Amino acid sequence: MARRWFSIFLVLGFLVGDLDGSAGDADQIYKTCVDQCEKTASIGDIFIQQCIFLANDAVVNSTWYMQEPLYLQWKQLNCRSDCRYHCMMQREKEREALGLSPVKYHGKWPFKRIYVFQEPASAALSAFNLMMHFNGWLSFFVLVNYKLPLRPQSRRTYYEYTGLWHIYGFLSMNAWLWSAIFHTRDFELTEKLDYSSAVALLGYSLILSLLRTFDVKDEASRVMFAAPILAFVTTHILYLNFYELDYGWNMKVCIVMGVVQMFVWAIWAGVTRHPNRVKLWIVVFGGALAMLLEIYDFSPYCGYFDAHALWHAATIPLTILWWSFIKSDAEDRTSILIKKSK
Ligand SMILES: [Zn+2]
Repeated sequence: MARRWFSIFLVLGFLVGDLDGSAGDADQIYKTCVDQCEKTASIGDIFIQQCIFLANDAVVNSTWYMQEPLYLQWKQLNCRSDCRYHCMMQREKEREALGLSPVKYHGKWPFKRIYVFQEPASAALSAFNLMMHFNGWLSFFVLVNYKLPLRPQSRRTYYEYTGLWHIYGFLSMNAWLWSAIFHTRDFELTEKLDYSSAVALLGYSLILSLLRTFDVKDEASRVMFAAPILAFVTTHILYLNFYELDYGWNMKVCIVMGVVQMFVWAIWAGVTRHPNRVKLWIVVFGGALAMLLEIYDFSPYCGYFDAHALWHAATIPLTILWWSFIKSDAEDRTSILIKKSK
């Protein structure tokens, strides 16, 4: 999921480095290589299939009524991405021979590709997170609808947060889906979708953390809690997509939303008598520890596993535990409410 965010405690500055200005792509040899590659469709003896059409065609700079066909734009994107990749690999080989350590290119470490996958480890782990959320959500769905008793009159669940967790499940799966796609192919569109989905999830889970920990049950109060956050998050997403994808500002927003909900859950876990508060403790502390991976941003091991990929690995067990907490919360609340109604 959006890479820069969870660098939470490293209060701005150290790692923030803006996305298009990394050491690797500032290198003149690399720049020349990419330019040459896009023009000639080759680097040394590597032939870039995607650039061939562009090399023979001059539909660049077309006006609106002579829009480039979509496939051509797609090819152009892939041509650039392939050239950048091969130039980066070549440059890194040269640097390694000189005894230099890897540097970032366009905000990312030099990852080895596998087929179309630019960052295979992060993409696969994102897909795994998606599966874990689906699995967690499905077992929650089965639990509240089929295993636990329903209210006799309305046939609705006793648990008051059922609908809210369903939305949470949907937003989580959506965010991990776009994360997997973004780590597969990093284009402006996939990047925006990944960032937007992640912001939506983070904003929504903040609302949810407040509603659950403050035991907000009636609709009117829920709206009062949610409305300002929803309004802010919506505006923020529109700003990122249609005005400026400002990484620094986005990170600040995400840091605040992330840290606040973590504290909310941590404090609640400390004061509540909830029978499963241990799970909550582990998720909160595990989550904080996993964030250290984002701070200690090391270059990819074997060309595949960087700190960000490991962070995606760390969220897998936390996700399992988190859904397990949610389910036990549903069971706990249901049994309390049934006892009350007797
Ligand atoms: Zn990611």
